[in-house]
Amino acid sequence: MEHLQFYINGAWSLPKNKHDSIKVIDPSTERSVAEVYMASSVDVDLAVQAASKSLYGWSQTTLEDRVSLMERFLDEYKKRYDDVAQAISTEMGAPIDMSHEIQTETVIGHTEVTIEEIKSMSMEEDSGPHAKLIREPIGVCVLITPWNWPVNQVVCKVVPALLAGCTVVLKPSELTPLSAQIYAECMDSARFPDGVFNMIHGEGPAIGPDLTSHPLVDMVSFTGSARAGIEVVKSAADTIKRVTQELGGKSANIIFADSDLQKMVEQGVEECMFNSGQSCDAPTRMLVEEAAYDDAVKYAKEAVNNINLGSAHEKGNHLGPVISELQWQKIQTLIQVGIDEGATLAAGGTGKPSNRQEGYFVKPTLFIDVNNQMRIAQEEIFGPVLVMIPFNSEDEAVDIANDTPYGLGAYVATRDIEKARRVSRALKSGTVHINGAAQEYCTPFGGYKQSGNGREYGVYGIHEFQEIKAINGYFAN
Ligand code: NAD
Repeated sequence: MEHLQFYINGAWSLPKNKHDSIKVIDPSTERSVAEVYMASSVDVDLAVQAASKSLYGWSQTTLEDRVSLMERFLDEYKKRYDDVAQAISTEMGAPIDMSHEIQTETVIGHTEVTIEEIKSMSMEEDSGPHAKLIREPIGVCVLITPWNWPVNQVVCKVVPALLAGCTVVLKPSELTPLSAQIYAECMDSARFPDGVFNMIHGEGPAIGPDLTSHPLVDMVSFTGSARAGIEVVKSAADTIKRVTQELGGKSANIIFADSDLQKMVEQGVEECMFNSGQSCDAPTRMLVEEAAYDDAVKYAKEAVNNINLGSAHEKGNHLGPVISELQWQKIQTLIQVGIDEGATLAAGGTGKPSNRQEGYFVKPTLFIDVNNQMRIAQEEIFGPVLVMIPFNSEDEAVDIANDTPYGLGAYVATRDIEKARRVSRALKSGTVHINGAAQEYCTPFGGYKQSGNGREYGVYGIHEFQEIKAINGYFAN
């Protein structure tokens, strides 16, 4: 048990006002493993002031200096790799092997790729006969992140922001402060100048408005729910900050009859259930061409029934619990909604699995014969719940896929590459995956519609943290 502190102006600090704290709960055991202090508006102000004071000096450093500090961070992170993997498993329930191989690794992947990308970027270019365009850091950035891919969401904001020359105040999810704490310890060990990187813990609704309306903050990069994203934009509006939003999804997985059906269905189930269904771009709506629908249901049912559940602390490729009791309840409610709406429950259902009474475990659940107007087809459930919807034509598949408030990810499976390309172009989503192709660290990630605006990862992620200055008359006639 420890009390996690804030990192402000190059030092660890306690809350300046009363010492409110919340417990960090291990979702595999439902037991408290640490306590984390909650910041107040006073701590927010101190962190923002520190970031603001250090901005000019940091923005004037060379890219080489910033890259070399980031490489030092990476060395420190590699030393703490196992600690991060354990922290993620403990705080949000990702099984230890998955946490080690995938969640924890994302920091190395994103940092290395972002360093490579920024080194090859041109920060200045000529425009017309006499103007020079210069890319400059936007300024002080508040970075607000969720719990489901805790260090991935942190790294894909902190690294491009700092490399671009911005200074930051990070507010990680209050549910996953352990991995964020180790991340901050690695930044501290890398010896970034005081005030360049700051981190405070706190509950979003309580200190979010202080962060997002602060007059010294130039930009808010937010990842989380649409509900909180709307609050962030409203709160940032009076000071006209740039706000980028990475929000939720209800991604369609369009499987045509001419695809490698069994493989694509099994892969679709696996990707939907991965991380216990807690990924923003999870393919949670499987649309299957009518001619292949019955076979697809058979394969999907088998795949769902073959999923094993287990503690996040056990090795193996099972699914862990979901993050919290609150999330468990929300998922139960939506499974019941699906039953009440008349969808056919083909696997799983409400209640805890019989062999998993301790921990926030959800039965992997499959609904078939779902109508896209049902709530289970429209709302982000954020748990291991897949819905299957039949379609009759390419046009109908695209219409159903696009008939959602979200537009984050989409998946297309067919052996006809021209059809796959055509459908991909028609989909209103920020990413499309053809026949299971994976997302690369250098490829932009973000959404259409209520999945947010802006893009993270690689060059596009760096652009988010830059202003473009046009200097007219730079070249004398
Ligand atoms: P959440 O919105 O509850 O919290 C996200 C973060 O926002 C937390 O740090 C929280 O403290 C903070 N927050 C909450 N209310 C706030 C407010 N009023 N002002 C400022 N900050 C506030 O989301 P969550 O439950 O942590 O994460 C799950 C959601 O995140 C899902 O909807 C998921 O799809 C989405 N997500 C999106 C992406 C993406 O890249 N598009 C990636 C991961 C997660």
